[in-house]
Amino acid sequence: MARKSLARPINLPLSSSAPLVTPLIQSNVYVSDDPDTLDRLYEGNREGYTYAREGHPNADVLAKRIDLLEKTSGGLITSSGMAAITAVLLGICQSGDHVIGGDQLYGRTLRLMQNDLPRLGIETTLADSTSSPNIEAAIKPNTRLVLIELMSNPTLRIADLKGISKVCKSRGIILVVDNTFTTPYSVQPLDHGADIVVHSITKMLAGHSDVTLGYMCASSLEFRTKIYEYSVTTGLTASPFECWLAERGLATFDLRFKRCQETAKQLADWLKERPEITKVIYPLNSDHPDRRNSKMILGENGCNIVSFIIDGDRTTANIFTKSADQIPFAPTLGDIGTTLSHPASSSHRSLSPQAQREFGISEGFFRVSVGLESFESLTEIIKKALTDITK
Ligand code: PLP
Repeated sequence: MARKSLARPINLPLSSSAPLVTPLIQSNVYVSDDPDTLDRLYEGNREGYTYAREGHPNADVLAKRIDLLEKTSGGLITSSGMAAITAVLLGICQSGDHVIGGDQLYGRTLRLMQNDLPRLGIETTLADSTSSPNIEAAIKPNTRLVLIELMSNPTLRIADLKGISKVCKSRGIILVVDNTFTTPYSVQPLDHGADIVVHSITKMLAGHSDVTLGYMCASSLEFRTKIYEYSVTTGLTASPFECWLAERGLATFDLRFKRCQETAKQLADWLKERPEITKVIYPLNSDHPDRRNSKMILGENGCNIVSFIIDGDRTTANIFTKSADQIPFAPTLGDIGTTLSHPASSSHRSLSPQAQREFGISEGFFRVSVGLESFESLTEIIKKALTDITK
């Protein structure tokens, strides 16, 4: 008998049972019966896949799961949070349009607004999103889109979502909300008038610091189609393995977020009592400047992040970080373990000292992304580090 070529796939064994866990389907291409079938697949008249950049089962399963959290359908997975933001902005806007962004957007989103969109003939303006009149004042006749983060990093300012969505609706402007920090545990921005929602799945949704992915969902098929086409053409789509891993992380998202934000609230209260700390920022604190927005949008939810300021310069910051070395010093958030970051030397390092001061960021400013450790073990580490800076 002629030996079958090893290059030919063998059919999967038939099975009358199904796997409990979503299988990982790494194939980057799909076999169909004939050109007519392929036509129907490409035209969307038949269920199935053609080529992984266009779509694959692991991305669709992950998107459907996040759709459940965002109470929507038709979400798309991209290769990173930045890919989702890029696909939204460039899939929808064109030369001659004007885009307004919150003035405390994530650093790379800010770069996109300040460098890349203007290079393509898209005008941009940054405005304080904690109060809707600031956004309204920035509107021009050619304003096409407003992009805000519900909670800013690392100062945890809360956007005036209700006010901004009202303004956008009345002026026919598309509102895009980055829900990464707030997460769908606390809020579904589409319910508050957003047209498009984006996420960095990389953070709390996947939650294990081993995946880089993004998500977007839209209130209209027209936006969804434009964003999908742009991301497929430019290859912003995601790999099956990343999606498979993220689906596994997502399974415990609700439990992780609930626990992490409870510990974060306890930690914020504890830090307030420490004499070495000059300021604690947490959305549920009564002295938070956007308490009204926070109550309206997040209800009793805070978040898993606490920011605080210690009195001191870079030397003090180095001592604190080294002494607290049981909390990894890493510029990320949303891991199962607590991480510590120092915005002046990481996320906000490209800002001038003057701009950093305007945001309230100093050498003593730290951000803690609270993980699953006990409150007691965290305070033990931080207490030691605070004692060491006063020696
Ligand atoms: N949006 C926010 C609020 C972020 O903090 C980040 C990254 O830190 C991003 C978007 C970009 O996500 P990614 O790193 O997955 O590209």
